[in-house]
Amino acid sequence: MYNSLKYLDIENLDSLPGIRLEDGDTFSFRCCPGIACFNRCCRNLNLFLYPYDVIFLKNRLNLPSDQFLDKYVDIVLRNSNFFPEVLLGMSGDQERTCPFLSDAGCTVYPDRPDTCRTFPVEQGVYYDAASKTTKLIHFFRPPDFCMGQHEKKVWTIQAWAQDQGAVVYNQMTLLWSEIKRMFQDNPWGLEGPEGPKAKMAFMATYNVDQFRDFLFNSTFLKRYKLKSAIRKTIRNDDVELMKFGFEWVKFFIWGIQTKSFKLR
Ligand code: SF4
Ligand code: SF4
Repeated sequence: MYNSLKYLDIENLDSLPGIRLEDGDTFSFRCCPGIACFNRCCRNLNLFLYPYDVIFLKNRLNLPSDQFLDKYVDIVLRNSNFFPEVLLGMSGDQERTCPFLSDAGCTVYPDRPDTCRTFPVEQGVYYDAASKTTKLIHFFRPPDFCMGQHEKKVWTIQAWAQDQGAVVYNQMTLLWSEIKRMFQDNPWGLEGPEGPKAKMAFMATYNVDQFRDFLFNSTFLKRYKLKSAIRKTIRNDDVELMKFGFEWVKFFIWGIQTKSFKLR
């Protein structure tokens, strides 16, 4: 049901399913534990996880990022992009329930992924070539069985994001989507999408604990100079480390310079 962030052609936006929500548009929705369809939406999902999602989920579960990825995600390469998609693996039962679902609801609720926060709104990405900027666009797209859409409470996308603690999540998803967009062209050359460069890019974006180990326990710091404040922050702060990883990927794949580090 949930979709990954797709790059959308602005000409065709109005032909896509769901109602497109522009800034200021409203939709009606309310979800609460007593509702008849409670928990039905947390099943049989293609639930895409972004790097920021992984940080909060692995920390909530008290797992290092590599163990979280081993245990909970499926990694899929699709034709439209040369960076793999990361999906939350559903349980093996008949209904393919989310592994974090209990009778009482979501067991990781304070750290649920961006897609769950934004639901029943879905996000797509539009790249404006003229201004070279990427922006999120929104569709109201609840499944038919979702009773919440018949409730009277009215939201704008901004108010909904605020209510769901999704504002920073949305910003981080947008930051990631800007890098993901760059993988629409093949950057791997003869190595292919499973070669050393691709493994490094995946580690630097999704596997933050292993990336930290690489930065501090390899020859990286002998080869690259980091400002001491950055060095200090990324040692302890997973989100700053993730952002550093994004800069590193842009540098080592496409040669895009950054102020965060330079060759010695
Ligand atoms: S289906 Fe809709 S109303 Fe029902 S629990 Fe899920 S989000 Fe809430
Ligand atoms: S993470 Fe929580 S909200 Fe999201 S699908 Fe799983 S149980 Fe539902």
